[in-house]
Amino acid sequence: MAEIRLSETRDLTRIERIGAHSHIRGLGLDSGLEARVVSEGMVGQKQARKAAGIIVQMIKEGKIAGRAVLLAGKPGTGKTAIAMGMAKSLGQETPFAMMAGSELFSLEMSKTEALKQAFRKAIGVRIKEETEIIEGEVVEVQIDRPAVNGVASKTGKLTLKSTDMETVYDLGAKMIEALGKQKIQSGDVIAIDKASGKITKLGRSFARSRDYDAMGPQTKFVQCPEGELQKRKEVVHCVTLHEIDVINSRTQGFLALFTGDTGEIRAEVREQIDTKVAEWREEGKAEIVPGVLFIDEVHMLDIECFSFLNRALENEMSPILVVATNRGITTIRGTNYKSPHGIPIDLLDRLLIITTEPYTEEEIRKILDIRTQEEDVDMSEDAKVLLTKIGVEASLRYAIHLITAASLACQKRKGRVVEMEDVSRVYHLFLDVNRSQQYLMEYQSQYMFSEMPNKEGEDD
Ligand code: ATP
Repeated sequence: MAEIRLSETRDLTRIERIGAHSHIRGLGLDSGLEARVVSEGMVGQKQARKAAGIIVQMIKEGKIAGRAVLLAGKPGTGKTAIAMGMAKSLGQETPFAMMAGSELFSLEMSKTEALKQAFRKAIGVRIKEETEIIEGEVVEVQIDRPAVNGVASKTGKLTLKSTDMETVYDLGAKMIEALGKQKIQSGDVIAIDKASGKITKLGRSFARSRDYDAMGPQTKFVQCPEGELQKRKEVVHCVTLHEIDVINSRTQGFLALFTGDTGEIRAEVREQIDTKVAEWREEGKAEIVPGVLFIDEVHMLDIECFSFLNRALENEMSPILVVATNRGITTIRGTNYKSPHGIPIDLLDRLLIITTEPYTEEEIRKILDIRTQEEDVDMSEDAKVLLTKIGVEASLRYAIHLITAASLACQKRKGRVVEMEDVSRVYHLFLDVNRSQQYLMEYQSQYMFSEMPNKEGEDD
């Protein structure tokens, strides 16, 4: 079963889907943190990228915790792209959790529980394990259970093969873990109860019958190898606090990590884990790696969530919070008050605000160039000029969406290079926001429940 799963996973990861931000490979900064014009898939937005780079640098140096950053700007100006760039430049070891504000309202758990889980997904724990591993061949010994007062005899031996579930290394590490400080000597026999997994050291004189009597019939006896036995090796595991929570939550179990169906986690479980992690930190066995929690569409959060964020940021183990919004002055959800970006002033005051600017025509052209490469589409110069014009007039996002559609239109007419006619064809097939709105204004009387738009400045 386990093997089948593994191969399925491999097959799945081989399929690389092209996402909206798959061309972003970093923030595209030089060593002095200045933004290069075009680099790592990033174009323009130099100020914002530089500011994001400084935050990344501070996170890497472990200088800040509990800080929050707001990316604010018009739709399609690269806020999410910058957050992705930050994630890429932080590297694999720093956790980066990402969610949209609206997700909090669709999960089968309370909003604050979902936020708690998101925060803990963004806090990494590096657990250092200096373990003595047993090198060499571990030998499984078949032993006849002795008759009363009888003497056991070795009836044969079996060398563990690499295909066995427990590799020699795992077994060695497990023994050391179970036996704690007791040193394992060359030739010692270890008894492993297959049902409970309990490991007992029997020492070299394993032939004493009372040793066996204490064991169940399911006991596996393993003899440590002769010769060079112990070797020090540092193993580092990187997990998030959330993963530790789920694994230790009795109602869920670790499989929930794959399905994401973790449900609510009890407060006691989290407390126990925090205490344990604090112990490990004191003993020098573990260190905390505060990562990044990115919440897109932060204006979708309500006043309860904002007050949770205010408190959570004060915790010493808090990750860096990066939030993004494209809203101007708007109502704070759950209240009748308006505020910039729909965020309460007390939280806004804690945020470092990075703004993004609308793109110039030249920048739009460069982003479209990168996207055509990313989507493996050959496009003629004329078609690119037209697409750029569409990007300026309609929106960058709309123009990006037309790339694949135009390429399909090109394939349909058995062409190899996307031409102006393909772009023009899909431009007429799919409406952008402005044309769609215009169409609605003209034909709204034919739609159900149609209403004339509010007068300017009037809120609904
Ligand atoms: P919204 O406010 O609507 O969520 P946003 O500001 O988050 O918009 P993005 O989704 O980041 O906008 O940008 C739209 C598209 O343009 C994405 O595919 C993104 O990768 C790409 N893009 C935006 N800015 C850049 C940039 N500076 N360099 C390269 N690609 C970019």
